[in-house]
Amino acid sequence: MNNRILPVLPRGSSGGKTRLSWRKKVIEMENHIIGYREFEAALEAAGIEYRKNELLSGYATFRIGGPADIAVFPKNEAELEESCSAAGLYGVRFIAVGNGSDLLFDDAGFRGAVIFTSSVRSVAIEGNMLTVGCGMPLTVAAKLAADAGLSGLEFSFGIPGSVGGAVFMNAGAYGGQISDVLSSCRMLNTATGEIITVPGSEMRFGYRRSLPAEVGGLIVLSASFELKTGDSAEITGKMRELMGRRISKQPLDMPSAGSVFRRPAPDIFVGKMIEDSGLKGSRVGGAEVSNKHAGFIVNAGGAKAEDVKKLVGIIKDRIYSDYGVRLETEIEYVPEKDDGVTGR
Ligand SMILES: Cc1cc2nc3c(=O)[nH]c(=O)nc-3n(C[C@H](O)[C@H](O)[C@H](O)COP(=O)(O)OP(=O)(O)OC[C@H]3O[C@@H](n4cnc5c(N)ncnc54)[C@H](O)[C@@H]3O)c2cc1C
Repeated sequence: MNNRILPVLPRGSSGGKTRLSWRKKVIEMENHIIGYREFEAALEAAGIEYRKNELLSGYATFRIGGPADIAVFPKNEAELEESCSAAGLYGVRFIAVGNGSDLLFDDAGFRGAVIFTSSVRSVAIEGNMLTVGCGMPLTVAAKLAADAGLSGLEFSFGIPGSVGGAVFMNAGAYGGQISDVLSSCRMLNTATGEIITVPGSEMRFGYRRSLPAEVGGLIVLSASFELKTGDSAEITGKMRELMGRRISKQPLDMPSAGSVFRRPAPDIFVGKMIEDSGLKGSRVGGAEVSNKHAGFIVNAGGAKAEDVKKLVGIIKDRIYSDYGVRLETEIEYVPEKDDGVTGR
């Protein structure tokens, strides 16, 4: 590093603290570049596909998000483990992403590696137990169960997430949720490199909450669902009926990340409150409160993450002033730079 260009010190600075902080920044930058190089070399050595400066808008149902420094596409569970371990080893900030259906990526993208799980799709059915890889779309898992005459995942048909994302979020709909049927879950602890199997009862599930969401650093590798024997045609009929309800109520023809806010209480419907506050159709840039379901913000064309964030702020303020209720967001904003939450 003898020929590196040192940053020019600001005028009037005679060194001391300023020089030290510049030096610290340069060292950080150098470590960062070395970390990236070594990470990429590890991916190449393991034959794991990756791309640089990949636009995240193509990987999020909101169709919003700038470039990720590195986008990684493991083909199977072993490659997923390897990718996460290498990112940890070389100090590269990373996030695991399933179908990106609950995420708002930043307009500036993601400084670090986004590791996509969508190819991790193993399947095993033993008796009443369905075990699937984390990247399997939830809807496909529900269909596999139905075809095998197994009941319990009907509620999840139509939730556009992956199995890993659904476990992370304890996804639910129409009176059912993942915690009702999850028997156990295999996870990679990125801090220790260990693979652990955690029973459903120890997953600390709550409303859209789980152990990996609470503690961070845990990557869901696969999930085992304990289902009940049922009639394939009846199960499929139930799934069709629930899908019909989704199609009639939700703006599925427009990009979104689903319900923006968490329910403040089981019997309080945020969409109705937003509608009654007169905010249906309100717009900031390309982000719009859906005219079909006011609990959704849709990308009506060219929306930026900043537009969505501003609109969320407007809704929160209005609901607080109209009802005295402080709304919390359900969708997850992924900041461009480290927010201290890494390794998930
Ligand atoms: C039209 C629409 C309708 C929706 N309806 C519903 C609904 O009815 N009910 C509901 O609950 N949700 C709903 N959602 C939201 C979303 O589909 C769910 O939250 C889903 O479970 C997210 O899964 P995902 O794979 O897309 O996760 P992502 O959006 O990719 O990620 C979400 C979080 O999970 C983490 N994650 C993803 N995979 C893993 C993994 N393998 N290990 C560890 N962490 C991981 C990510 O790091 C991130 O923090 C809807 C969304 C849309 C767009």
